[in-house]
Amino acid sequence: MIGEEEISEVIDTLRSDWITTGPKVKRFEEDFAQFVHAPDALAVSSGTAALHLSLLALGIGAGDAVITTPMTFCSAVHVIEHVGATPIFSDVEPDTLNLDPNGLRRQIEKTEKDLGLRVKAIMPVHLYGHPCDRDAILRIAAEYHLAVIEDAAHSLPATYKGHLIGSLSSTESVTVLSCFSFYATKNLTTAEGGMLTGHKALLDQARRWSLHGMNRDAWKRYGANGSWFYDVDCPGYKYNMTDIQAALGLHQLKKLTRFHARRTAIVRKYQAAFGVREELQVPSERSDVQHAWHLYVLRLNLDRMRITRDRFIEEMRARNIGCSVHFIPVHLLRYYRERYGFKPEQFPIALREYQRMISLPLSARMTDQDVDDVIHAVTNILEEHSSARSARPTDVVSA
Ligand SMILES: *Cc1c(COP(=O)(O)O)cnc(C)c1O
Repeated sequence: MIGEEEISEVIDTLRSDWITTGPKVKRFEEDFAQFVHAPDALAVSSGTAALHLSLLALGIGAGDAVITTPMTFCSAVHVIEHVGATPIFSDVEPDTLNLDPNGLRRQIEKTEKDLGLRVKAIMPVHLYGHPCDRDAILRIAAEYHLAVIEDAAHSLPATYKGHLIGSLSSTESVTVLSCFSFYATKNLTTAEGGMLTGHKALLDQARRWSLHGMNRDAWKRYGANGSWFYDVDCPGYKYNMTDIQAALGLHQLKKLTRFHARRTAIVRKYQAAFGVREELQVPSERSDVQHAWHLYVLRLNLDRMRITRDRFIEEMRARNIGCSVHFIPVHLLRYYRERYGFKPEQFPIALREYQRMISLPLSARMTDQDVDDVIHAVTNILEEHSSARSARPTDVVSA
């Protein structure tokens, strides 16, 4: 969904005197903060960088623990390792697959008592674009004096109880940072990129960590009033966004509402076609949220069909439809398995749902014909491989 506007803006940047972090990044930060109603925004090189910077800005490190979900992308857990803290998984809710607030208190207390670690933050993800049970998680965070780092990589634009993810209410007694990703497949893209939103004081810390620990904006150093002098407060990273990336983001942001409307229309078609099949469990949307519909994840009722999830994906591929799985639970990945000795059954809901999930194609670029092709392929596979009682008699005969 890169249009002529994005292309012209990138060319304009290339012809200008500034290609790295400069005026377009600043404008993109301002526009983005205004869009999600955030107090402040920091543009960075990736969503992963935003998550890493959140931990650094909060001063989380060795001896600390962060509670998170196994049903997420591995980089969201890697950053906890990067700062020397310990990731503690807590299982997910069966319906949304978001971090289940019900398991959190026990996990926090166990971590502090049995492992002797200080729990410092909860890191939920708004999985697939469906906001987590934010109030319940914030209530627990307040109770234990923890920060909340929201992985908002999927949830642009999503709302929880009428508020956009990324906006913060001044009544919140908990420190909240929100981390967005603009990777190529995300709802808004800058090819690679991310945004961190939150209150200004913390973002100032994050800004320092994002550019070598230097105590002033590098691009201002080169301006008319610039000076050669800087000092360094910490061994910072190189996580700044470039004006070339921001050039894309400025126009993608203007189109985001239109992209979201198209994604939602595609999802309505999927829901109508698949919601009636007893072999399938379609995604749900709670009444108090607006789903960003980053991913459309079906769950297969495997007892109603004669094939496995993996075979289902192969059958889709044979019909020229690419599908994926989001995500392989992080506790199943070798590094984490070996480092922490996780057993697959340790997080039973994440494990069970992983084994029956499949992400269908979903993009604002899909045509109605593309959507029909996906629906046709799924329906066709079910007709060939269903074992549901309502399967058509012809299936029984051919079996
Ligand atoms: C994409 C993604 C990230 C990482 O974002 P990058 O911009 O690729 O670094 C983090 N968490 C989740 C859930 C994601 O899907």
